[in-house]
Amino acid sequence: MDVTIVGSGTVVPEGDRVCASYFVEEGALRMLLDCGPGSLHHLARFGLPWDTLSHLVLSHFHTDHLGGVPILFFALRYGLSTPRSEALTVLGPAGTAERFERLADAFGNYLRDPGFPVTIREIAPGEALELPGRVWLRAAKTRHTPESLAYRLDVGQASLGYTGDTGYDEELAAWFEGVDTLIAECSLPDELAMDAHLTPARVAALARRARPRRLVLTHVYPQLERETLPERIRDGGWGGETLVAMDGMRLVL
Ligand SMILES: [Zn+2]
Ligand SMILES: [Zn+2]
Repeated sequence: MDVTIVGSGTVVPEGDRVCASYFVEEGALRMLLDCGPGSLHHLARFGLPWDTLSHLVLSHFHTDHLGGVPILFFALRYGLSTPRSEALTVLGPAGTAERFERLADAFGNYLRDPGFPVTIREIAPGEALELPGRVWLRAAKTRHTPESLAYRLDVGQASLGYTGDTGYDEELAAWFEGVDTLIAECSLPDELAMDAHLTPARVAALARRARPRRLVLTHVYPQLERETLPERIRDGGWGGETLVAMDGMRLVL
């Protein structure tokens, strides 16, 4: 499974980071996990196949995770020299289909009918779906918004966890147990801790329970110094491999 960090940023704009987006490739599966503003252009920048995505998976409906959807569909409808015919599957929490209807009302009918088949499949916490490439996708509830989900992708021995946006949750930490690579949000410093996001101490607690082989920190607000972040995770009691995500970073699982 090949994973590329497409967007490791937040709502606060930074020149070298766009909003939340991750590309996963395994066999015939070409998945975009969240589609924040800027992700389409970073897919192009990093030479990733934005035009032949097979799956778009959404964690929740905040604009920094969803706001790139209209331009992606606009590009798929009007930006290809050869029209696309392959189907696209959209997976997301309860309410995803209605959200697409509202986006289509606001932006245009190309979000309903981009010229190729689109299937919207809502996924519930606890559900597991088999995807192309023999990849299993599982969802779990996170503490963030009423609909927000975390995901886990498993193929053979390889596994990827993605927290989406979340506050600390013991059950979620246990759900990620044994995952190879865990992409975890780490939004704020411990002094600015809130229920809906993670801080270094809480990510460390999550990792102590989940025990990933590799921890990748993302969705880091500028209030949190990135250079010293792995150190703060160690201070929090997690000594495993810890990386800070950068747009364009590639991970092989
Ligand atoms: Zn959010
Ligand atoms: Zn976010």
